[in-house]
Amino acid sequence: MRTLGLIGGMSAESTALYYAHLNRLARERLGGLHSARLVIVSIDFAPLAEMQAKGEWEAAGLMLAEEARRLQAAGAEAILICANTMHLVADAVQAAVDAPVLHIADATADRLQAVGSRRPLLLATRFTMEKDFYRDRLAARGIDAVVPEAADRQALHAIIYDELCQGLIRPPSKAAVLEMIGRARGIDGVIFGCTEIGLLISPDELTLPVVDTTLAHAEAAMDFALG
Ligand code: GLU
Repeated sequence: MRTLGLIGGMSAESTALYYAHLNRLARERLGGLHSARLVIVSIDFAPLAEMQAKGEWEAAGLMLAEEARRLQAAGAEAILICANTMHLVADAVQAAVDAPVLHIADATADRLQAVGSRRPLLLATRFTMEKDFYRDRLAARGIDAVVPEAADRQALHAIIYDELCQGLIRPPSKAAVLEMIGRARGIDGVIFGCTEIGLLISPDELTLPVVDTTLAHAEAAMDFALG
């Protein structure tokens, strides 16, 4: 089995999900006492979130590139940036290491194609919903991701940073996100495009096909590990 390197802590709440998914997948695929070979660096999210808010993406990219180098030196054969938003600097991270950076949007596109969704609703941070890096990567795969209206984007962004990334799961926020999904027109699927959204809503609660990016990313990583 190959060793996966995780850049976690973005937030720590979803890094715990990655850890659980990867170990469960290893056990399901190999049986018995198998578990995933992992090295993890888990950063302090507060300084990074501040860089995001100030638009200091180059500095954030340098920081994650340094963490990727550390993972590679510790034996990682592929790197996972355990968040959607920070894929904004995926190129800077990839430039720092030989090990491939397994892109979360590619894993997501694979799953969307598998469930037949070409026009999914993208639920994510404002950075992921409003900047081009993520929707363009999906568009290159023939997927036309739509985003909620401006007020909903703002509300969702606040739910992610003020609640989910801090381990707060609030029923009114869940109701608000379900309403956002209900308001979206012409969609044929939903992307949980933030690695914490699965903490708030389960895909089973929706009638549309759902791709949870945390799980899609973990599955793609396990494919690589066992490749
Ligand atoms: N984990 C989140 C994501 O998937 C949001 C936190 C962050 O900005 O890294 O985008």
